[in-house]
Amino acid sequence: MKTERLGLFGGTFAPPHRGHVHALDAFLRTVKPDRTLVMPTGIPPHKSKDGGDTPAARLAMCRAAFGTFPGVEISDYEIKKDGPSYTVETLRHLEAPDREILLLCGSDMFLTLSRWFQSEEIFHRAVIVGLAREADREDEMHAAKADYEKRFGARVILIDEEPVEISSTDVRRAIRDGEDLAPYLPEAVIDVIRAEHLYEPEEATMEKRILDEAALAELSEKVRPYLTPKRYAHTKSVEKEAAALGAIYLPDKIPSLRAAALLHDITKKEDAEKQLQICAEFGIIVEQTDRLSPAVFHAKTGAAVAARDFAPFTDDEILSGIRWHTTGHSGMTRFECLVYLADYIEETRTFDDCTALRREFYDRIGAGEDPEIVLTDVMIRSFDYTIAQLIEAGQPVAAESVAARNEFLIKRHDGQPVSLPAKGLS
Ligand code: ATP
Repeated sequence: MKTERLGLFGGTFAPPHRGHVHALDAFLRTVKPDRTLVMPTGIPPHKSKDGGDTPAARLAMCRAAFGTFPGVEISDYEIKKDGPSYTVETLRHLEAPDREILLLCGSDMFLTLSRWFQSEEIFHRAVIVGLAREADREDEMHAAKADYEKRFGARVILIDEEPVEISSTDVRRAIRDGEDLAPYLPEAVIDVIRAEHLYEPEEATMEKRILDEAALAELSEKVRPYLTPKRYAHTKSVEKEAAALGAIYLPDKIPSLRAAALLHDITKKEDAEKQLQICAEFGIIVEQTDRLSPAVFHAKTGAAVAARDFAPFTDDEILSGIRWHTTGHSGMTRFECLVYLADYIEETRTFDDCTALRREFYDRIGAGEDPEIVLTDVMIRSFDYTIAQLIEAGQPVAAESVAARNEFLIKRHDGQPVSLPAKGLS
């Protein structure tokens, strides 16, 4: 027989807003836990730079937002803990023989729960309490509840309340835009934000740089600490290759292509655990296949970290070049293709497939072939090589790569059936 019902409300709380307060209030009224912990996540200290916050400030804001609710304590457990804050580990830490844990989740979290790290154990360790953040999510939430109950034997409670549609992202934008914050935040949280100048943009970091030679040289030096020496050499070679490809296909975009090339691998040296931590920090959804081949993480996390740490040197096109340089995807832009291809065929690559493709590309361009056809062909071939290698290694193939390959094939064959060599028919 459980004697204590312990509520747990975790989140980034950057900052805690009226939506969070509403969620906690509804939770306390309807579920009536004996005691509740509000637990801000431990996110890496580098998020604290550039007009952000600090762990201490998030704790202070949580105290300001939730401290007056009876039976609610603000816990610094995840903030003080080393490494990423996985919910499953927090639940293990809170385990006690006579305790039932009730985990409060907004709909965004609730609907993705089965993809969380070791979700099955989360379902066993806690009763999940879901609450809608936006209107019209009821059907989805009821369907997810039924699914969790069936698949995991989960215990799920849904709280039926009018949602308060606010997110911390909205609030940070409102602060940057100098809007009235009263509709978003409790007065006491506004006081902490004003006193500590949280989330205010630093002018210098927001101003975009013109990507002239001086800016690109500066960027080259700034990315160096993010890379191993070997990867730095590769990066510089991708920059050179991107410029060469740009000269053929996108002469107006050469500086941006060089910037994307310089930034494309900035998170590659991080291990899988750190990649997951960055994903959690930026709200990047991690698919099961990503977990099987963590090598593809760095394109997602690289784009997010580039946007944060190199904002003056980036724009949406550069970020999408970084985002899609590993897997490609359906509907690739010319810019994305060139970043992807530069990474594949740059001249320090020694794999046979890469050198063969590089030779083919420049031989055919040199022979005066239509550059459009050459590009389509080498894109197809690069996906063929990559997919074949992944199959050989027993690794999953990203669905985006298959979609991209198919699209290039359709383009190459003008939508007509591809004639198979005789051996393919046997
Ligand atoms: P961001 O916009 O930075 O992603 P957020 O507003 O989603 O932030 P979090 O700190 O990530 O806030 O959320 C912590 C928890 O609070 C999560 O379970 C989330 O679903 C829930 N939550 C956030 N906003 C609301 C809201 N408006 N109504 C109900 N629950 C919410």
